[in-house]
Amino acid sequence: MNFKGFEKLSFIDYPEKICTVLFTAGCNFRCPYCHNSPLIYNQGETITECFVFDYLEKRKKILDAVCISGGEPTLHNTLYSFIQKIKEKGFLVKLDTNGTHPEILKKLIKENLVDYIAMDIKAPFDKYPIVTRKKISIHAIKESIDLLQQSSIDYEFRTTLCKELLTQEDILKIAEYLKGSKRYFLQNFKDGSTILDGQNKFQPFSKKELKIIEEQIKGYFPLFKIRN
Ligand code: SF4
Repeated sequence: MNFKGFEKLSFIDYPEKICTVLFTAGCNFRCPYCHNSPLIYNQGETITECFVFDYLEKRKKILDAVCISGGEPTLHNTLYSFIQKIKEKGFLVKLDTNGTHPEILKKLIKENLVDYIAMDIKAPFDKYPIVTRKKISIHAIKESIDLLQQSSIDYEFRTTLCKELLTQEDILKIAEYLKGSKRYFLQNFKDGSTILDGQNKFQPFSKKELKIIEEQIKGYFPLFKIRN
């Protein structure tokens, strides 16, 4: 399996663990606010599996985990065998996903090959085609949500907040659906030069709006946080 990005040491991508983050290329969504646009178009230097394992071997004393992010990692048919090799080396595995491939999540969970899954919830279900700009199976998204909620692994759901795409009511709708899930995080939009639709096109929610949303939904989840 090849990668298009590599963050050698991260203290924030896996809760309470030190991890390496690997970014896969390609995505089946086209979220306008995506800050990984080079990745979804498969641009950038290729990082080989060999290089990754070499690094992991050298750093195994300080690293707890490997986080596989994207793009969308579940689009790669070598993901399963790659994760198997990572687990054989004794690392925890975190997977970031948009939830479009529940069958892959199911297999990984069933075979104890994944320890933490972070799944993006892009919008209330009726707005998925607007936010992702793709026609996808909402059934698959719901199946992935169910899988995580019923599993014993650690997981989080997370939603990116962007004023042009989501309203406060949308966030409430999502939170109602996810109510009772282990963790729900809101990530306020951050502008940058790699945004898919370009810089200065989108805005984050204001502090006041975030406060109102927080007051309304924080009681729905054992762990709720706004990442600003
Ligand atoms: S934000 Fe995530 S799901 Fe959306 S296009 Fe970018 S990589 Fe794909």
